[in-house]
Amino acid sequence: MILPEGFLQVDVDGLWAVRRCYGRPENDSFESDPCWIEGIERLARTFESVGTPAGFFIVGRDLELKSKRERLRGLIRSGFEIGNHSYTHTIGLTRKPSGFILDELERTDRALRGVKADPVGFRAPGYDVDARVLRCVRRLGYKYDASLLPTHLGPALRLADAWMARRWDPTKRQFGRMAYGRAPRGPYFPRRYKIRKEASTHEPKDLLEIPVGVTPGLRLPLTAATLLPMGKAEIRELLDKLAANELPVLLLLHAIDGVDCREPIVFDNRISKLGGFSMSGRRKEKRLRFIVEEFAKRFNVMKAGKFAKHAVRQRDDSHR
Ligand SMILES: [Zn+2]
Repeated sequence: MILPEGFLQVDVDGLWAVRRCYGRPENDSFESDPCWIEGIERLARTFESVGTPAGFFIVGRDLELKSKRERLRGLIRSGFEIGNHSYTHTIGLTRKPSGFILDELERTDRALRGVKADPVGFRAPGYDVDARVLRCVRRLGYKYDASLLPTHLGPALRLADAWMARRWDPTKRQFGRMAYGRAPRGPYFPRRYKIRKEASTHEPKDLLEIPVGVTPGLRLPLTAATLLPMGKAEIRELLDKLAANELPVLLLLHAIDGVDCREPIVFDNRISKLGGFSMSGRRKEKRLRFIVEEFAKRFNVMKAGKFAKHAVRQRDDSHR
């Protein structure tokens, strides 16, 4: 039986980026960052113990710290794919001028190349992507973008997020647009100006969009926030359904998914019980290992970079 391709990726949002995302001050979370120590370690160990390839998406600013650069070198040595996740993790890239967006991508690209990573993929913070963002991704010569969340639930997810943070930030733009609910759920070559649609035959196919996985039916993002609260049977059933579609699926984790969150490290004084935020590190690791194992049984897990390079090359060949 031929399994559909599956991609396992981690956004390495430092604790500072997570705190900022919920409107909290950074304090010392840039220097003293459990996401970069505990989080990366647990997730890398999980992938290695199951024996699956995976990718880590890095926020450029973190590489200003020597200790984090060293950590990244470790991931590269272990053979993980490395991707670009912007420089300052600004949620709402599509509200910014093109120069700002390009700068975010280029600076991170330089920082990554500085430690001998060779990124070919980008993911926008908060899944906030549009045609201008993709133009910048193309400028860097990348082979894929993995920012688009094919769901109509954007506004609902923004509300849930604001509820967790206990504040509404109108400048935050997250979880994409309603119209992205009509985008393909598997990898496709996007149109230049209407990225939720597939490129027509005469348009260049040099950049693949690999949408973030969503659950069948409800179309919640396929992330730990969705999966960790689910029971084992429920997870198996969900993965069965996804595999039955025979489309490649991207399962997205975050560094904080490997961090013990029984102490309130994000929302000072208070723990959110949503999305496994309150679980111990050991419990999360056990559950994530189960999820990764079950995913690897149903999907042919490979690096998205390899998949995208192949897809782009194939298009070239078939047009010659
Ligand atoms: Zn992020």
